[in-house]
Amino acid sequence: AELLARQEQRESNARTYPRNLPIAIAEGTGSFVRDVDGNVFIDFLTGAGVLSLGHNHPELVEVVARQASVLVHGLDFPTPVKDAFIDAQLSMLPPTLRDEMKIHFCGPTGANGVEAALKLAKVVTGRSEVISFQGGFHGSTHAAMSVTGLVSPKAPVGNRMPGVHFFPYCSAAHCAEGLTPDSCLSDCAGFLERSLRDPNGGIPLPAAVILELVQGEGGVVPARKEFVQRVRELTRELGILMIVDEVQTGCGRTGTWFAFEQYEIEPDVVVASKALSGIGLPISLIFYNRALDQWKPGAHIGTFRGNQLAFATGAEAVRIVRRDDVLANVRDRGEQVAERLAPLKNQAWVRDVRGLGLMWGVELADPATGKPATALGKAVQRIALRNGLILELGGRHDGVVRMLPPLNVTAEVLDTACDIFLDAVDTALK
Ligand code: PMP
Repeated sequence: AELLARQEQRESNARTYPRNLPIAIAEGTGSFVRDVDGNVFIDFLTGAGVLSLGHNHPELVEVVARQASVLVHGLDFPTPVKDAFIDAQLSMLPPTLRDEMKIHFCGPTGANGVEAALKLAKVVTGRSEVISFQGGFHGSTHAAMSVTGLVSPKAPVGNRMPGVHFFPYCSAAHCAEGLTPDSCLSDCAGFLERSLRDPNGGIPLPAAVILELVQGEGGVVPARKEFVQRVRELTRELGILMIVDEVQTGCGRTGTWFAFEQYEIEPDVVVASKALSGIGLPISLIFYNRALDQWKPGAHIGTFRGNQLAFATGAEAVRIVRRDDVLANVRDRGEQVAERLAPLKNQAWVRDVRGLGLMWGVELADPATGKPATALGKAVQRIALRNGLILELGGRHDGVVRMLPPLNVTAEVLDTACDIFLDAVDTALK
């Protein structure tokens, strides 16, 4: 309480997590954190989806210590550890892309990667319009926020990057709102196609389409596969770059290294960040087809693009993911969540339970009005916290309670967490 009060006095009012999760964290190990009072929690927020191998994975800690005594900051010079990181990252791409893709290091955060991707698309195409989707989240810097399809973070800022056009995002979760899957697909994809093909339709040919394949902050909303594939065909035909924002879905979160593999598409640009280092060190990058490498020297730079600690742990994290078959664990544990949370579907206030791999959301809505049950979501989060489980909220009105467990979480810990989750929903509804 003392640290929270001191924080309120001295830090920005924009802080978010401790408002709903009023704890001060002392240490983390694997799937657990301990607060300064000694209480232990299962951490299914994992640094906003960053800690793919949990807190302080011992092998990664060792790598940090070793690398810290060798080299910490390397600007964009080549270094052996960066070279190993690039090898590891390219090796995780599908075989058809491994030799086709180049990497650009963008700065420490996901938003830096999004900025670079948008700029690259403008440089390559010589165009400036961008298509994005309702409900998407891409970051808090100016352009990344401008392509974010959630109004509340943008509204207070006034003018944003011009030339961004939002289209409806097609997902099974949205089809439930009175549309059939077929009509939803033809509505969403058809509307986009007609708008892009109409030479006088008000939208000049864009440089890029940017999207998440599973909207994370938007409430764990997976895009319909057919929709994504139609977007891919259309963008390819019209010479528009398809940027896939895998900042949250990437590095194994959905059960494949990148979610685009499950959608069976090859994007032109992939943005990755959060879990790249495996242990929470800041790093972001974009992968893009080498034909797109049309930057002029100095066209997109930044001081913090050479975090040698993140390169070292990132390469080691890939080795661990392979050695321990972490992606199989993501898929198995994902099925476990699906089974354990299935009974929630019988609750009148639960509108949907959905997820992919280890990215899960329970959407709560008032059965009488259909409106997002924001207060109920907060109550579930608060009760779960009291009982030792840290959960995240999301969705347009925070009506979705989210779980982002470490990708190497054990079946036992996941079971305990599901018990706490189910009990929290029950208790909140009483
Ligand atoms: N894109 C997506 C899909 C994200 O989920 C996030 C962060 N939640 C970002 C971009 C922005 O990343 P950062 O906060 O590191 O700038």
